[in-house]
This record gives sequence, C-alpha cells and structure tokens, in this order.
Amino acid sequence: MDKKEIEQLRRLLDKPKKIVIVPHKSPDGDALGSSLALYLFLKSKGHQVKVISPNDYPQFLKWMPGEAEILKFDQDVEKSKKIISEAELIFTLDFNHFSRAGDMEDSLKNATADFVMIDHHQEPDTYAKFMESDTAMSSTSQMIYHFLYRIDQLNAVTAEIATCLYTGIMTDTGCFRFPSTTSATHRTVAFLMDRGAKNSEIYQQIYDANSLDSLQLLGTALKNIKVLKEYRTAYISLSQDELDSCNFKKGDTEGFVNYILSLKNIIFAVIFIENKQEGIIKMSLRSKGSFDVNQVARKYYHGGGHRNAAGGRSSENMEKTIKGFFDILPEYENELK
Ligand code: 5GP
Ligand code: MN
Repeated sequence: MDKKEIEQLRRLLDKPKKIVIVPHKSPDGDALGSSLALYLFLKSKGHQVKVISPNDYPQFLKWMPGEAEILKFDQDVEKSKKIISEAELIFTLDFNHFSRAGDMEDSLKNATADFVMIDHHQEPDTYAKFMESDTAMSSTSQMIYHFLYRIDQLNAVTAEIATCLYTGIMTDTGCFRFPSTTSATHRTVAFLMDRGAKNSEIYQQIYDANSLDSLQLLGTALKNIKVLKEYRTAYISLSQDELDSCNFKKGDTEGFVNYILSLKNIIFAVIFIENKQEGIIKMSLRSKGSFDVNQVARKYYHGGGHRNAAGGRSSENMEKTIKGFFDILPEYENELK
C-alpha cells in the first residue's frame, strides 16, 4: 500500500464498518496473533468485527486475548457465510491465496466486500483492493504493527493487542532465531513489551504446553529420522498408527521438523505425516540458507510458503510419497550437495 492507499483505508475505517478477519486454514501463532490483534484494535474503534477461522487450531493457542470470540467456519457454516456475505471489508491475514482458506474459499470468492491482504508469503494473488505483501517481513504480526504505525494508531495498542502481536512474532521467528528476524523485529518487540506483553509468560503458554503423549510422539519422530547424507537432507515419517498410539491431537507435531535441521550439515528437512481421514500425507519442509523449499512445495506438493519454511501434501500413500521424494532429490543436486 502506498501513502494514498493507506490514507484511503484509514478514512474507510473512520466510520463504523462490518468487518471480517480471516486467518489461513489451521492457523498458527502468527495467523491468530495478527488476526486477534487487529480484531481487538478494530473493536476498540467501534467496528462490528468477527474473526472467522476456516477450522480449529491447537490447544496451546487457546489462551490468547479475544480467542474465545473466534467463529470457526467448519463448525458454524451458515452463520459464517451470512457474516461474510454482509461484510463491507474483509482482512485476509497470513495468507495470499483463497485456496489457503480451506472450505471458506467459495464464500470468500463470492463476497462483495473489499479485501485487505496483509501477508509475508511469496507469490500473492490479486484479489485484494488493499494489499500489503512483503516477503522480507518476519511475520504478519510485525506487519500489523507497521500498519498501526502507518495509520497513526500505535497509541491504541493495549497489553492484550501487544500480547497477540508478540505471540505471532515469537512463533514465526522461532523465538527470534530465524534469519527473517531483524533489528526492526526487535524494536517492534521492545515496543510490545513496553505496552505490556509479558515475554516469559507468553513463551510458557506456547512452548511449555506439552502433554506426556505429545512428548512421547516426539520420541517416536526422533527415532524415525532418516539421513540422506549425500543430499544434506533428512526426513521423518509418522504413520497414522504411530499418531494414534500417542493419542495425537492437532498441534502435537508442531516444531518436530525443526529438530531435523539441528543436525550438523543438514540443510533440507522434511516431515511426512499421515492423515488417513483426509487420505493425504501432510508435509512440512524446512531449509537453511538459499535452498528454496517454497519452490519444491509448489512444484511437487500442492503447497507453498517461504524460502526456508513451506508446507504441502501428497495424495499417495506414505511409501509412494517417500519414494517420489527420493526421485525429485537429484533435480536439486547442485544446491544440496
Ligand atoms: P508448516 O509446515 O508449519 O505447516 O508451514 C510452513 C509455512 O508454509 C507457513 O508459512 C505456512 O503458511 C506455509 N504452508 C503450509 N502448508 C501450506 C500449503 O498447503 N500451501 C501453501 N501455499 N502454504 C503452506
Ligand atoms: Mn506467518
């Protein structure tokens, strides 16, 4: 958004509006953090606002300020559709293509509202009248901070809003360790702490929330690591049986793929997770340095994301999916070896 567009949007927000905020499917800390921060801000300005998530999200995010007021599309389809169709403005946060909204895709396509996209993924679609897309940004939550700055509303940041934004930045930067973390990120976070975000408490809510089952599933995952030394690649597979035997719940495998990247000399990491109900293998891809997993996810796995973190899926069984994965590695030989 250039200055003129920001001014146009700021003026639109001068009068109470019916607004919907949408995070991507299976929202993570950043998608929810940015959505809830914007929700709390817009509500405080007198707008009629609803956050509608395409579906449910992990338990470790269910403490966030405003979270209890989120509508889940798949659990309340008719009500959600009505609110979307009556909206005057729809913010889509932390994604840039309607297909990332799962079963909400058609409702969004049919909406008459103007769209505002705020997002840091690659290759944005063009549905938004107002678009803030920046792949250099650590997180969408950091972009919400910049948006509030640009519309001259940082003074409206409460402790609750700061908590939501801090959560989003912390989770998307891997606790401020990924290369996307800049001095601007730290300045943003310093501001958020000054406004009442409690760093240590937020960390504990997110990361010290393991169940015995989820830790034991991590044990299984770590035992399953396979290393392909010649490609500086390693992967984990988790079958539905393995998930079931540890009473798998949404979010239990979050972060598992990062353990692979802690292996010395490994720059490409993949986790394959079977989902029998959906008939797919869900994949998370991670890399270090210039190797672009977003391209791999787009080309072979109906997915996408960022250069160093992407996701996708395969409709084949685990054995064929892994075999197919072996087959594509030679294509990236030069970058991996
Ligand atoms: P994760 O592996 O943690 O699910 O996702 C890593 C990154 O890739 C996130 O930025 C997420 O938004 C993106 N991502 C995950 N799954 C998909 C997918 O199926 N399609 C696209 N386009 N992006 C994805
Ligand atoms: Mn994000």
